[in-house]
Amino acid sequence: MANHNIPELFASQVFSEDVMRERLPKDVYRSLLHTIAEGSEIDNSIADVVAGAMKDWAIEHGATHFTHWFQPLSGVTAEKHDAFLSPVGGGKAIMEFSGKELIKGEPDASSFPSGGLRATFEARGYTAWDPASYAFIKDGSLYIPTAFCSYTGEALDTKTPLLRSMDAINREGLRILRLFGDTATKRVITTVGAEQEYFLIDSEHFKARRDLAFCGRTLFGAPAVKGQEMEDHYFGAIPTRVAEYMHELDLELWKLGICSKTKHNESAPSQHELAPIYGTVNIGVDHNQLIMEYMKKLAPRFGMECLLAEKPFEGINGSGKHNNWSLGTDTGVNLLKPGKTPEENKLFLLSLSAVIKAVDDYQDLLRLSSATAGNDCRLGGNEAPPSVISVFLGDELDALVHSIIDGSAYSKKSSKYMSFGVSTVPSIRRDTTDRNRTSPFAFTGNKFEFRMIGSAQNIALANIVLNTAVAASFREFADRLEGVEDFDKELSRLIRTTLKEHQRILFLGNSYSKEWEAEAKARGLSNYKTSPEAYEHFTDEKNVELFTSFGVMSEAEMLSRREILYESYRKTKNIEARTMVEMTLRDFIPAVSRYVSELSDAVNSRRAISAAIDTSVEVELIERLSALLSRAFVGAKELERVEKLAQQKSSPEASFYFIKTVNPKMDSLRAIVDEMETLTAREHWPVPTYGDILFSVR
Ligand code: ADP
Ligand code: MG
Repeated sequence: MANHNIPELFASQVFSEDVMRERLPKDVYRSLLHTIAEGSEIDNSIADVVAGAMKDWAIEHGATHFTHWFQPLSGVTAEKHDAFLSPVGGGKAIMEFSGKELIKGEPDASSFPSGGLRATFEARGYTAWDPASYAFIKDGSLYIPTAFCSYTGEALDTKTPLLRSMDAINREGLRILRLFGDTATKRVITTVGAEQEYFLIDSEHFKARRDLAFCGRTLFGAPAVKGQEMEDHYFGAIPTRVAEYMHELDLELWKLGICSKTKHNESAPSQHELAPIYGTVNIGVDHNQLIMEYMKKLAPRFGMECLLAEKPFEGINGSGKHNNWSLGTDTGVNLLKPGKTPEENKLFLLSLSAVIKAVDDYQDLLRLSSATAGNDCRLGGNEAPPSVISVFLGDELDALVHSIIDGSAYSKKSSKYMSFGVSTVPSIRRDTTDRNRTSPFAFTGNKFEFRMIGSAQNIALANIVLNTAVAASFREFADRLEGVEDFDKELSRLIRTTLKEHQRILFLGNSYSKEWEAEAKARGLSNYKTSPEAYEHFTDEKNVELFTSFGVMSEAEMLSRREILYESYRKTKNIEARTMVEMTLRDFIPAVSRYVSELSDAVNSRRAISAAIDTSVEVELIERLSALLSRAFVGAKELERVEKLAQQKSSPEASFYFIKTVNPKMDSLRAIVDEMETLTAREHWPVPTYGDILFSVR
């Protein structure tokens, strides 16, 4: 690995604050900074100056094009590149980039999901610059993060409502801070760091399996002889090829100003994780999109493929994304930091109550923000959070919360020192927030960790929900507290009643257990096991009221998003079903049939030598495989039939039809094929097996 000057490399491809300060006239720089820091509207008159500086900087760094970079509702990012080049007559050209081009783009929106929002005659869409997320250079283009909306002004992306939700929590958060006498804070912000899990497999294996190529996950595959039972992969030594990949990935991310910090092997064989240092939520979201993109893009250079799917292998841990979320101020205060005496820290307790209330009131939306066809294969599995939302506070905070609810005295558990019993090893202080890996929403020191999101998902929706739901708590609190005579008394009462009212969402135990599912039901918590069930509740009255009252999403925007969620669920499933049919009919049946012929030839030729030779093994294999062949054929045909029926249904209807009718047929076809795999000679099996794939990256 070559030597690099990392501090110099870091953010070298970013039009960062430093670059702005260096290259912009003082007043323009100040005005832009004001927009970024306080979310105020950009002054159009400075756009030309900023654009000019950006262009010069980009060209010096080898860029020839610029692109508005946006996040349509397809889950991936979109870009369309224009050269800076502009002809000036006489066969000459200059490099140009205007303020207008920086601020606004007009891509054709007709091929992006709109969920019925956009009529075809209004195909045009607009992209608008998000000055709060830095522009950067990638592959010879200047990337300008933008929001994307339809000709009629409805959001067609994930960023627009996210920015609106940031405004909402800022507005309501400031009301609360002012009540506490804080006049210095200019902006309340939420911060996000998303830990990203992923698999790396050999490129050859990826190419050899159509399920991986089309669906990003295996749809067949008998368990390998060895799974993850030895627990030797988690935090294990990183194989050289993977280490080289991770190093390259870090370098590329650092250049883009993404502070990739932690890397390690995860629990499943071939599974890994990357965690960056957190940033303001819109930047955290953009960075996560870039991290996923670079993970996929760099792997082939090392002869590997990166799988981001939530459940690439049955029976092996799936991949998620831990969305670390916190609440703070532009002055650097973390409102979710308990401090040394949390029992006296009323602002912390109020903020904590706001989050607890938000999670309880909008469980359904949080669940929905992690609901995709891919993540359905993972949630509820024995390594992943169940579909019930609950909040884990840790012993200490839980004790404090209950003492507030009961009005009893709180005895602080003093933080403990522990010794390793070795004279040379120092005693260390034990972390007071203990760890519960089974909780879907856990307090971890000074932030909450939402663990339900799928590894392939855009994390925007979850954060839109969190920001807006907590803004709603703050709004209610501020309405109650503003103008009261005895602020302290009213404040204590409010904290207590809020915690009391929402204590059903608090749970310390094992969230994976069956007992919890029953108890959660008794507590009245919602439990939507599949994505379509969760989608149904998106536009429940209270949810429409939440988003519309803050202007985060209109009802039409919500309906369109719900439609897109259903659409994307059904399309994913349609493709999976068709892939299974094709692989069964064109890969597995022909291969097994050839093997059976080979066995039959062996039987015949041996019998020709002597009728007394024992051919019972071959005969039994022929019988069993022939029976499986017929069942596989019937199963594939049956799956083909119901998949075609699903295609004729509307998306919501099709989604439920998949759950009830198609998914079980997919499961049973898989079982037949997996059984054939275990009986077929290795050389005849047409695709790499779990054993081949999971243990080959060295
Ligand atoms: P673990 O796996 O033990 O949960 P990691 O270090 O892998 O811990 O990940 C923790 C993540 O939480 C990192 O991405 C980190 O930047 C992020 N984080 C830490 N503090 C905050 C905060 N105040 N707001 C948002 N994210 C935070
Ligand atoms: Mg974590």
